Amino acid sequence: MTENTLQEQWSAVCDRIRNESNDGVFVRWLDQITPACAETGAVALQVPTRFMQEWLKEKQYDALIADLWKNENPAVGPISLKLQPHKEAVLEKTPVAPIPPACDTAPAPAEEIDLFQNTYLDPHFTFENFVVGKPNEFAFAAAKRVAESDSVVFNPLYLHSSVGLGKTHLMHAIAWHIQKTNPARRVLYLSAEKFMYQFVRALRYDDTVSFRDLFRSVDVLMIDDVQFICGKKATQEEFFHTFNALVDQGKQIIVSSDSSPLELKGIEERLKTRMAQGLVVDIFPTTYEMRIGILQSKAALLGTSVPEDVIAFLAERITSNVRELEGALKRVVANAELLGAPINLETTRQVLRDILDVYEKEITVEDIQKAVADFYLLKLADLKSTRRDRKIARPRQMAMWLSKNMTTKSLPDIGSAFDRDHTTIIHAVRTIDELKGKDQQLAADLALLERNLKA
Ligand code: ADP
Ligand code: MG
Repeated sequence: MTENTLQEQWSAVCDRIRNESNDGVFVRWLDQITPACAETGAVALQVPTRFMQEWLKEKQYDALIADLWKNENPAVGPISLKLQPHKEAVLEKTPVAPIPPACDTAPAPAEEIDLFQNTYLDPHFTFENFVVGKPNEFAFAAAKRVAESDSVVFNPLYLHSSVGLGKTHLMHAIAWHIQKTNPARRVLYLSAEKFMYQFVRALRYDDTVSFRDLFRSVDVLMIDDVQFICGKKATQEEFFHTFNALVDQGKQIIVSSDSSPLELKGIEERLKTRMAQGLVVDIFPTTYEMRIGILQSKAALLGTSVPEDVIAFLAERITSNVRELEGALKRVVANAELLGAPINLETTRQVLRDILDVYEKEITVEDIQKAVADFYLLKLADLKSTRRDRKIARPRQMAMWLSKNMTTKSLPDIGSAFDRDHTTIIHAVRTIDELKGKDQQLAADLALLERNLKA
């Protein structure tokens, strides 16, 4: 195939994709893909970043392109996606690249363009993948509102929460949504750290004009983790001006941070006030039900099925933030895949031993027996004895019930801790379940025991 026909065929394929695909990201990326010469019918496409390469493969767009290409030229075989070596290098080092020496008089490289690529957006961070519950429903609704309306509803939208509760996820979701529904809008997402880096770099190259042009030409600007610029005076100053310029032009700004605007330390008063002028929304820690939902959704994204009891166990034990919860799930899944072992409570405990220790000491049947005996002023031996008087039999059943509900021990294991068999445990659990509804004193005692054991 000559270079010319290769290019012509690629253009024809691109036209079809532009007409038929509703994946805005894919369509926009087409311009950055170049066909490289093909031998014996196999076409190589060059893409500028590894991220794009993986994303295209993941969505099986290489196969789609191959199909479309066959319409143009039946002799064309499979399509491979290759990296353009030089551009990848620039991108990979962008986030932490050292500032070039000032004597370097070359104009600033075209790094700005990279900012508008989706390289920094996680494809999984979409609205669809965001689990909503009371603690975050307001943030979710506000983010959706901003993403769905073409005009500015509140400016800025200021999201804050402690770490790992979904701020970045929501910002990426806004970006994806706008890019899909309104690709003409220029959305720029970046961390405050990167904003500062870009700014310092512009100063270094004596190119603040381009910097300002760039930031003031966007329709939607999102700055993540704005607390990063606390104490950084020049960057704040620049951010303040960018902020005002965009607000004046009616452009949307979205900011995230680890605290409310007024609580930010080391930020100029006027900038705080400005950031507090829009809608300030905080995200609260997740509930148990949300954690279950999140784990189910993440397991589905990982393409694995995780047993319900393992999901419940993780949701109960790892409550601090969603990032840790997800990290724990990933470890469990990775371990199972690596060892070809099943995912169950036992392997889960084993894999996560280190972090579970931090959360709480595991409660044992022995702890429960001791707590119950102390509570009812009984001897430990009485609980294991065969004595049937109610004064002892009832606490014994309560200890069995607690063992079933607060540990992951099996019924036979609990049975042997009480010198009984598992049917006795089943009977005890049923009895207490029933009594709990009728006997308020017993229910209160159980609740207190549970609380003491967890403390
Ligand atoms: P933050 O920016 O607030 O520190 P992130 O947005 O990075 O937190 O969230 C950390 C991880 O938790 C991400 O993988 C994100 O997808 C996940 N996550 C947080 N909240 C939710 C939620 N409500 N539904 C699904 N995933 C969530
Ligand atoms: Mg974040």
